[in-house]
Amino acid sequence: MKVPLLDLKSQYLSMKDELDAALIGVAESTAYIMGPAVKKMEEEMAQFLGSKYAVGVSSGTDALLLALMAIGVGKDDEVIMPTYSFFATAGVVARLNAVPVLVDSDPVTFNIDPTQIEAKITSKTKAIIPVHLYGQSADMEPIMAIAKKHNLRVIEDGAQAISVQYKDGRQVGNIGDIGCFSFFPSKNLGCFGDGGLVVTNDDELIDMIRIMRVHGGKPKYYHKVIGGNFRLDSIQAAVLSVKLPHLNDWSAKRRENAAYYTKLLIEAGLAEETGRIKFDDKNKVLIPKAVYEGPGLVNYHIYNQYVLRVERRNALRAFLTEKGIGNEVYYPVPFHRQECFAHLNLKDEDYPVANCAATDSFAIPIYPELTKEMMEYVVASIAEFIKTSDNLPMECGHCDCMNK
Ligand SMILES: *Cc1c(COP(=O)(O)O)cnc(C)c1O
Repeated sequence: MKVPLLDLKSQYLSMKDELDAALIGVAESTAYIMGPAVKKMEEEMAQFLGSKYAVGVSSGTDALLLALMAIGVGKDDEVIMPTYSFFATAGVVARLNAVPVLVDSDPVTFNIDPTQIEAKITSKTKAIIPVHLYGQSADMEPIMAIAKKHNLRVIEDGAQAISVQYKDGRQVGNIGDIGCFSFFPSKNLGCFGDGGLVVTNDDELIDMIRIMRVHGGKPKYYHKVIGGNFRLDSIQAAVLSVKLPHLNDWSAKRRENAAYYTKLLIEAGLAEETGRIKFDDKNKVLIPKAVYEGPGLVNYHIYNQYVLRVERRNALRAFLTEKGIGNEVYYPVPFHRQECFAHLNLKDEDYPVANCAATDSFAIPIYPELTKEMMEYVVASIAEFIKTSDNLPMECGHCDCMNK
């Protein structure tokens, strides 16, 4: 059986007529960039996300870059963020000649550990970028309290978490000053290329965001500030307007799939329900944990990725790949280990949780169209590996970061 990591074709086919009509509609309109389709999508997104303003932009990366430019981050400013995320989070800060200040992660959620933020604040600190990794909110309450106390801006990287609720029911992106989303095809809501969104409830920031999106000219050709070309194509907006009404159903399917994996892994004696195992137990996998579920909350975890942790991960991955099962590591190299940040002289031992995650975590297919048979095959294959892998060497050693 083949189980790809992602299957965009079946989603396309399930709404082919509507999508094709939307594409042709834009072709015929000739309003190819920032046309009425973009305005319509922005209004729908603002309504859906509960944000006062939503602005379509060229990618999730550009959403972050634009957000940083709008709050005035520049040379030598410091921006606090997790060391464990997709590269864009740090890349945009460095591109503005500002400094990414890296914080280790929480071992259960993989999100920034809020208890380690305050010690990193200096007179140069300008902002904090929490990332809502894998489709679950970072712990925003302590982060917002720290930001308020030190007068810092908060930019949420919600690229993997569109429509996710935090424990108080608020949707991510609306908790900090600016929220950033990505419509890259592999995200929970993807367009037919690159696209992104910036949301805010701030009447002053929205003006700067809109001006910066089109080179910083206001009126056109008159520049008090320097922005960029962060515009969104109308074709992407039209695709998003077709897909958005399905997002909640897809999220529900992803949650169902996650629950089914968890059930199967527990029945196979491979996982413990608590989400915490002895880390040197080579015969167990650690399953993801939704930490903010509660009454009234629905999208507390939308599983952009379903990430397992296991001893001998690389050997298991090779085994699954051999069996036709897609899998991937998000992310093998935390920022503090990236060559381009060597000049920051960061100490590897300051990031034990991220280092562990880079060594033992990996994602298995979780997309909405996955069938039960496919998931049963995935778990049976993991079980087969673990049953037959006793003599393989350990990969992470007896690390105990999960047992603190
Ligand atoms: C995907 C992603 C981005 C970048 O989005 P693009 O649309 O690919 O530019 C930024 N941050 C995180 C956490 C992401 O997962």
